[in-house]
Amino acid sequence: MQKEAKKLQKQIGELKQSDPFADPDHALDNAAVDTDVREQVGHHTIEAEVKALQRKLTDVELALQKMQKGKYGICERCGKPIPVARLKILPEARFDIECEQKLRK
Ligand SMILES: [Zn+2]
Repeated sequence: MQKEAKKLQKQIGELKQSDPFADPDHALDNAAVDTDVREQVGHHTIEAEVKALQRKLTDVELALQKMQKGKYGICERCGKPIPVARLKILPEARFDIECEQKLRK
């Protein structure tokens, strides 16, 4: 889990660096319009990816905190243990499948 959090942090950092808008010279360049459009698209794609990764990182960090408190693998809604099979697929799961489905509705 700790490794997963580190990996996510690294990915977020790398993605942010590949954002064309992160280039300090960006505002100064007089790039052709099509280049600007490409940069816009790239920027939005990266922004969306960074957001998704940050959301996952938050969940992983929450799972780590729960591990420290000895509450890992317990559904936050009903307090029942989350099945191991589910935790294998989604280690940062906060709810069991039943509650997850109810919460999504
Ligand atoms: Zn539950």
